[in-house]
Amino acid sequence: MAEAPSIRNDATRPTRTIGILGGGQLGRMMGLAGLPLGIDFLFLDPAADACASAAGELLQAEFGDVSAARRLAERVDVATIDFENVPRETAEALQQTCPLYPAPNSLGACQDRLSEKTLLTDLGVGVAGFQPVWSRSDLAEGLERLGYPAVLKTRRFGYDGKGQAVLHDEEAAERAWQDLGENELILEAFVPFDFECSLVAVRGHDGEIRFWPLTRNVHHNGILALSRPGVVPAPLQATAEEHMRRLMHHFDYRGVLTIEFFVTGDKLVANEMAPRVHNSGHWTIDGSSCSQFENHIRAVAGLPLGETRMERPCIMFNWVGTLPDRDRALRVPGLHWHDYGKAPKPGRKIGHATLTAETDSQLMDRANEVAAIAGGDFPALLPKL
Ligand code: AMP
Repeated sequence: MAEAPSIRNDATRPTRTIGILGGGQLGRMMGLAGLPLGIDFLFLDPAADACASAAGELLQAEFGDVSAARRLAERVDVATIDFENVPRETAEALQQTCPLYPAPNSLGACQDRLSEKTLLTDLGVGVAGFQPVWSRSDLAEGLERLGYPAVLKTRRFGYDGKGQAVLHDEEAAERAWQDLGENELILEAFVPFDFECSLVAVRGHDGEIRFWPLTRNVHHNGILALSRPGVVPAPLQATAEEHMRRLMHHFDYRGVLTIEFFVTGDKLVANEMAPRVHNSGHWTIDGSSCSQFENHIRAVAGLPLGETRMERPCIMFNWVGTLPDRDRALRVPGLHWHDYGKAPKPGRKIGHATLTAETDSQLMDRANEVAAIAGGDFPALLPKL
């Protein structure tokens, strides 16, 4: 039988199969959003129990395994990612055989906090004062210039508050240098923010951009605990959208992109960006017309984008380390439960719930009930929203 001709770049053929580098909860939720569109998924992940395999086939291989990436590329129409630290060689090998969105240029920029902050500055997006640190004397010089408190961070592979330390004095600086000094580092001025928020947006195959409302976020131990959309003043939304537009045009971006901000008074200070769907956008599954996951799949597959309106007031609770009592929580009206099917482990994101309501006051009443059921730090964190 003659071999089928390559059809991957044939725009007339609808996307049937998407390959995803990474098989975590983000991949899983992309799969769950894409299956009703008639799209199949193939995930590449080193873990035999990668939780995305509930939504498609798993190709078990290391992310640095270039030949495995090529095998994935042979079997899919287009590829995307569920995490940004994809090795450059893997992304490039994949791209030789099938389109990869977002493209490696944006992945590269987001993998290194120094190039990320430099780019944001070049594009006129405000960031905290920063200084690259190569040596102990760079650190001393940076502290002299930026002052205490400051935050010392690894430039690469840091996430959820890992690989960073807040420095309040010389002693803390020395300790942090001992802990982190063998890495490439960046020193940042500490931003005394009023609150944190993030903008999630999607750019389609034709360049159309759609934005979800800014989401207010509360972190605990460096990990997102709570998110609430639709409560950030409109002028900040307009500024954030302008920043997002610049970044998306710069990268000629396709898919979902997220920027995390600190808010001080009426100013936005960008902290970091993620070239993917984001934890602070999980509420969009139950609270928006078209979720970040579905819109990312639509963008990657070349389909029209869906509405990004917030349909009803909502709050997302992140389940980190353990799952609360599901059966009790489900008694709260408007609660939507998402269990990722991952083994519980301290500090690990294993699920979330999005609470929806008809009004803000009903939302807060219900949120207090959920916080009481979840226990832990939630009752103390909820008033910070
Ligand atoms: P990151 O890994 O950069 O997202 O940082 C995790 C969390 O640490 C942020 O969401 C903030 O709550 C806090 N943080 C990080 N950098 C700074 C900073 N320069 N000033 C104040 N807080 C920070």
